[in-house]
Amino acid sequence: MKTISVLMCGIVAMSLVSAAVWAQENAPPEPPRRAIAQWDKVTITVEQKIGANLAILHGNPGVDTNHPDASGGRVAVLYGPDGVLMVDDNNIEVHDKLLAAVRSLSTAPIKLLINSHAHSDHTGGNAFFARQGAVIMAQQNLRDELMPNPDAPLPMPLDPVSLPVVTYNYDPATKGKPAVVIHMNGETVDVIPMMPSHMGGDSIVKFEKANVIYIEDFYRNFGYPFADQANGGSINGMFDAIDLMSNCPTTILC
Ligand SMILES: [Zn+2]
Repeated sequence: MKTISVLMCGIVAMSLVSAAVWAQENAPPEPPRRAIAQWDKVTITVEQKIGANLAILHGNPGVDTNHPDASGGRVAVLYGPDGVLMVDDNNIEVHDKLLAAVRSLSTAPIKLLINSHAHSDHTGGNAFFARQGAVIMAQQNLRDELMPNPDAPLPMPLDPVSLPVVTYNYDPATKGKPAVVIHMNGETVDVIPMMPSHMGGDSIVKFEKANVIYIEDFYRNFGYPFADQANGGSINGMFDAIDLMSNCPTTILC
């Protein structure tokens, strides 16, 4: 994920209600740690402050075989007196470290969590942060992608708390328009469903005041582009997604 600075029109508003905080003792046992990173050596820190109350959190380089530039996916955090809004939540193995990094910015309740796409380095902390009180939002396709595949030889058990509770859909007729607009901490946050591209249920998130878009993985700043076609991704959709960004004026994308 890389941040770029363009501006997005907002059209839809909705109110959001914080979910009840789940007691941590109700959490099921976590699955074994996967052998894709040196988890004990992973650190999660505030990589960059990109607005008055907006920050990007990221892991350190050289410890994650899937992310040589750093560990896991980036996390955007909007914080302030209205609470914390997060975009994505890195891998399940680092949720405690991610929470500590969020808490270095704010002690306010974590109220909203937007999933940009279903890959586990962006949604692994879902259940943990839902139990912190976050309401998870995503495309309906993403929610479907998180469901276990009953045809898999060893279907992974699903913690139902990890699933988004607020969903929306991509509509080609309103390409580039937000499905949800959130007013929080003096910021206007546009949640924009994308066409099937990196996966089948992707979203980008525009922070209007900060003039920043979190654009998830249809564009990456390392390796080859990757369309996860086994999970709804589309190479043509990745072209569409990049065109949607690059053809827009630098100030307004509608
Ligand atoms: Zn991805």
